[in-house]
Amino acid sequence: MADVATLTSRVDRLRASLEEPLLVTNGPNVFYLVGFRSTNAALLVEPDRARLFTDFRYRDQASTVEGVEVVVTERSLLRGIAKHVSGRVGFETTTLTYAEWDALRTAGLELVPRVGAVERLRAVKDDDEVATMREACEITDRVYAAMAEERFVGRTERELAWRMEQLFHEHGADAVAFPIIVGSGPTGALPHGRATERVVDANTTVVIDAGCYVDGYASDCTRTFATGELPDDLARAYEVCRQAQQAGLGATRVGVSGRDADAASRVPIGEADWGEYYGHGLGHGVGILVHESPVLRPESEDVLEPGNVVTVEPGIYFPGRAGIRIEDLVVVTEEGNDVLTGFTKELVLVR
Ligand code: ZN
Ligand code: ZN
Repeated sequence: MADVATLTSRVDRLRASLEEPLLVTNGPNVFYLVGFRSTNAALLVEPDRARLFTDFRYRDQASTVEGVEVVVTERSLLRGIAKHVSGRVGFETTTLTYAEWDALRTAGLELVPRVGAVERLRAVKDDDEVATMREACEITDRVYAAMAEERFVGRTERELAWRMEQLFHEHGADAVAFPIIVGSGPTGALPHGRATERVVDANTTVVIDAGCYVDGYASDCTRTFATGELPDDLARAYEVCRQAQQAGLGATRVGVSGRDADAASRVPIGEADWGEYYGHGLGHGVGILVHESPVLRPESEDVLEPGNVVTVEPGIYFPGRAGIRIEDLVVVTEEGNDVLTGFTKELVLVR
């Protein structure tokens, strides 16, 4: 976890961007600002102090958080907060429920909707955050290498997903970052299809998308394996996807917009006349959450900055048949970028 000085500077930077006190109810945002994890906590950042509201169950952990005043409220947190707060307060539009908003409003608060104040800070990682994510990626690399030794053909996708989850734990991950995707043949043509009971066939592709958590930060990586020699079009699609991924990596640089980075990756796939089979964006930010700012896709207005950590993950999906995706996790630097995921992108043959 981040040290006290780092956490204090995060709260200070947030404070400097605010026009009125902000009630932070988004759990990952609370964790980012004060290093406190709870399913029932909120942080009110005011000009001269920060108050951490939580209930009895988290009282002891909350008392170890430095730089905040802890207020233990009733279990119904927002009702409790309403008793301690008054006046004009900003709230996070994406996490406060209507019922919570109504409780605060009824208590007389003047509520101002605010979007993305903490998320904008989270999008730029400091060196410690990058180091933690690098570690998560190194574990992920070792797990992919171990998976490449496994038998695929004749096992179900779910069996392989469970095996991989076990490997993450064996290699030191705290947890998997999301349910592991193992998509063989037609399942692989569904970009976010989960592992199913489908038995893996020979001579097709298997898309594996997996990541882990280390100290609160996620990794995210996709590789496509071949279960024996591939039909010509799938072998060619793999090469085209690699070129697209390389083009995406080349464009993931300071000052480039998410839209333009995305567009660069579409050129090789478009030239192969497979544009319609690449239906999702190039990538997304990763950090405390697997999907966060900035985003790389056609409608994105984000502009890349040093410290952004994003995925670069073009794919080609032939409906009903097979899919291919290659995903790296990349940190944008002053000079270009640094790829954190290191497992080979040569087509790996599995048994
Ligand atoms: Zn992924
Ligand atoms: Zn991803």
